[in-house]
Amino acid sequence: MAFVATSLVGTGYWAIGGPADLLVEPGAPAEVAAAVRELRDSGVPVAVIGGGTNVLFPDEGFRGVVLKVAGRLNRFRIDGCRVESESGVWVPRLARTAGCLGLTGIEHTVGIPGTLGGLVLMNGGSQRKGIGTHVVRVTGCDASGNPVSFTREECAFAYRESRLQTNGCIVTGVELELARGDAAAIRREMIGIMKSRRLKFPKRLPNCGSVFVSNPAMYEKFGPPGKMIEDAGLKGTRIGGALIPELHGNFIVNTGGATADDVKRLVRLVRERVEARTGFWLVCEVRTLLADGTFVPLHDRL
Ligand SMILES: Cc1cc2nc3c(=O)[nH]c(=O)nc-3n(C[C@H](O)[C@H](O)[C@H](O)COP(=O)(O)OP(=O)(O)OC[C@H]3O[C@@H](n4cnc5c(N)ncnc54)[C@H](O)[C@@H]3O)c2cc1C
Repeated sequence: MAFVATSLVGTGYWAIGGPADLLVEPGAPAEVAAAVRELRDSGVPVAVIGGGTNVLFPDEGFRGVVLKVAGRLNRFRIDGCRVESESGVWVPRLARTAGCLGLTGIEHTVGIPGTLGGLVLMNGGSQRKGIGTHVVRVTGCDASGNPVSFTREECAFAYRESRLQTNGCIVTGVELELARGDAAAIRREMIGIMKSRRLKFPKRLPNCGSVFVSNPAMYEKFGPPGKMIEDAGLKGTRIGGALIPELHGNFIVNTGGATADDVKRLVRLVRERVEARTGFWLVCEVRTLLADGTFVPLHDRL
């Protein structure tokens, strides 16, 4: 197990946040459970993260332990169409490996930074797909370190949602079922996805990807959140160091020295302006860390 004192600025993709007391990076599922048991007995708050690509950390930091389930838990095994993976594996690596072996189903995830555990919890994906479709089983431990296991049905996947967001499961393993496909066609599709993402998404300044989630009723009337934000004239709006870039309305970039408060104020402004124009309150995909170690969608804590 690796232990380091840390600043959350270097931990999340927004490069925002104060100090955390300790960052712990377990190297095996059993170490995750052992760390959780140990910490539960001490009463110290624990925050579980993967790659930190979808979270806003507070300016005041975190008085507790950040448990990073990421690069040290990155073993996976592919047998036929079945993938058995630890949850810290980096998603683009898994997508590319599966594609090279002629396995289809997760090519849409090839450009998504983050761990498999974070992706499953968020039911993330692109091209209106979600990883949940391919999940067979999720394993991990609960807040007391006891083993838990959930089938796809028990995970209750919905658009960018899953029951894992609220049931306290710390994901350490994921089993996926893919299908046989043509490796060359899969490769071409992944190259196409990467090309289009390079053009559409800002890449030089720190960001957490799409801030708001789409929903079918809203989409039918007004298009995706990025278009709603653009139509409300909000591209180029800045609060402190936080900016909505011209390239994509559904991103907020840190132009340098942005605080969590800047991002929150910008999110609040966007939601109010879009609601006044369309009647829809945009819902955040991005999550924020509370003092007790839990994460909630950012709009719950503006
Ligand atoms: C440039 C960019 C582009 C992006 N594009 C997309 C996209 O196309 N589609 C998409 O869906 N997302 C996208 N994202 C968002 C993000 O990458 C995904 O949501 C990703 O799957 C989050 O994984 P993570 O490991 O970084 O999770 P984190 O950001 O670390 O955590 C997210 C949530 O998951 C929880 N969590 C993480 N790991 C575990 C675990 N092992 N056990 C229990 N809880 C856990 C955390 O507590 C938190 O609530 C993008 C982000 C960026 C920066």
